[in-house]
Amino acid sequence: MYPVMLDVTDRSCLVVGGGGIALRKAQGLVEEGARVTVVAPEVVDPLVKMAQEGRLSLERRAYTTGEAVSYALVFAATDDREVNARVFADADDAGVWVNVADDPELCSFHLPGRVRRGPLQLAIASAGEAPFAVRRLRQLFERRFGAEWAEWVAAAGRFRNRVYSLGVAPADQEALFDRFFSSTVDAENLKARIPTAAEEAEWISAPVDHLDRGGQAENGGSQACRESESKRGFVSLVGAGPGCPGLLTVRGRQRLFEADAVVYDRLAAPALPCGLGPEVALHPVGKEAGVHPMPQEEINALLVRLARQGFRVVRLKGGDPYVFGRGGEEGEVLEAEGIAFEVVPGVTSGVAAMAWAGIPVTHRREAVRLTLLTAHEAVKSDGPQVRWDLLAQDKSATIVGYMGVTALPEVVHQLLGGGMDPTTPAAMVEQGTTASQRKVISTLAALPNAIVEAGLRPPALFAIGPTIGHSSHLDWFSRLPLAGERLVVPDAAEVVARRLEAAGAEVLPVPFPVTPAARVVMAALPVTGCVVTSPAEVDWLHDERGGPGWIEDAPSWCVGDAAAARARQRGWRRVHELSTGLDCSDLVAEIAESRS
Ligand code: SAH
Repeated sequence: MYPVMLDVTDRSCLVVGGGGIALRKAQGLVEEGARVTVVAPEVVDPLVKMAQEGRLSLERRAYTTGEAVSYALVFAATDDREVNARVFADADDAGVWVNVADDPELCSFHLPGRVRRGPLQLAIASAGEAPFAVRRLRQLFERRFGAEWAEWVAAAGRFRNRVYSLGVAPADQEALFDRFFSSTVDAENLKARIPTAAEEAEWISAPVDHLDRGGQAENGGSQACRESESKRGFVSLVGAGPGCPGLLTVRGRQRLFEADAVVYDRLAAPALPCGLGPEVALHPVGKEAGVHPMPQEEINALLVRLARQGFRVVRLKGGDPYVFGRGGEEGEVLEAEGIAFEVVPGVTSGVAAMAWAGIPVTHRREAVRLTLLTAHEAVKSDGPQVRWDLLAQDKSATIVGYMGVTALPEVVHQLLGGGMDPTTPAAMVEQGTTASQRKVISTLAALPNAIVEAGLRPPALFAIGPTIGHSSHLDWFSRLPLAGERLVVPDAAEVVARRLEAAGAEVLPVPFPVTPAARVVMAALPVTGCVVTSPAEVDWLHDERGGPGWIEDAPSWCVGDAAAARARQRGWRRVHELSTGLDCSDLVAEIAESRS
């Protein structure tokens, strides 16, 4: 279903039928300036009145076969299905858009539910799937959207015209529109206000001033010019969380959707929202398969360059930007270059991966202190900054080590040397919070061998301390029926996605056409399967399967025989056909069963 807003001014439109529904369609069209003809043997009074007032033309007779073809838009709302079907067939054969009230099969377009505030319209649609849901959502938005939005959108239109008439450069226009929006809209409560003339004047005056100075910059450039130039761009240092897409913060997600450019690390890739549009420039700077990571100086230079171009930049980092993420260094560079920035903290892996592994990093009376450290400190040639000897004596504490796979034997050696009990519980968690999570629970002395045996690899964290003893009975994640599944699901299938997530699967809500961001996400970790609900989705995904990330012959769960038939026709293997009446819990059970 493809949404459009039609300009029906002076277009000939036909309404077949003379009851209440036909009246509403005719009124809606007349209000928008259409030339409306109503054809019906019997009509309700208001239609007669409208005809008398010359607002529409009324023909009191039965519909004549073929007459629909000479109109731009046709509505049928009679109580005779045969007449409705004839109107539909005539119009549809002639390529005229036609809608039969309450008969989705006889429609080449549907009318969305709409909430109208002056020129502002919200359209709500479900592709004919759930009209009742659309009606209720419309009522909900009717309540939530106050009358002030009509005035607000009119004020926004005036403001736009004013900005255009001043000849403001495109990059500055957006900055001005941002100011208008953020100063007048209460996004949390969906309230809007009309700005005062003085406020508008103030917003507009600063960049006009800046444009003037921008002219000087081209003739050599002064400090003032450099500063005003750099003010245009903005960098958000955003923590992507530990890998599970749901652990990206609300604000982080907002910043990504507002961004012009995203500079991301490898560890941050799984948390990129698949729905980011193709207009957002994606810059990978971490180690990708076969490609070396970009040196820190080059990353800094890239951030500065993008900001100077006037872009809103998100620097997306795994976990939290300020926890072993060099966020501080990047912030300092931006500060020195006069570029405005902010930090959006993230959920650090050292805490989250442990939670997913059943390990609380503090626990009353057991561990009252938490030390986050980088294990590199154990192997540094110029002497460690970490006092391993002191940590070794601290019994009521948890040590969480980042970047700890290769350095682990040396860490253990130092702690044992400092007198730590070799039977202290110890663990390592690889790819924590993702579908690829693996963990090893052991003791301090035995952990290095245990992880070699299990073949654990970076990214992984170790934890040492008494609370690791809880890991088996607090192991909520790996007990979930779909833990370990990483499934591509059409982004429209939200209810399915939520159910799969609740059952432990990592869900990649992929939009169609597939976005570049979705491709980055799919490639970030193994995709173990997909859910499809239509043949068209099979076609879209066919080109993606076999791409990086997808396991070989990834199974598919096809809702409906048409989708399954197309998948088999495309040569997919391990196709599971599910009936369309299927409940979400059946889907979870089917997937869980196919694993065993
Ligand atoms: N800023 C990040 C850490 C970056 S340092 C944060 O706050 O989490 C990179 C190290 O983080 C990796 O070597 C690994 O030790 C750890 N790490 C990051 N994500 C991880 C994950 N999902 N599972 C296990 N370790 C992870």
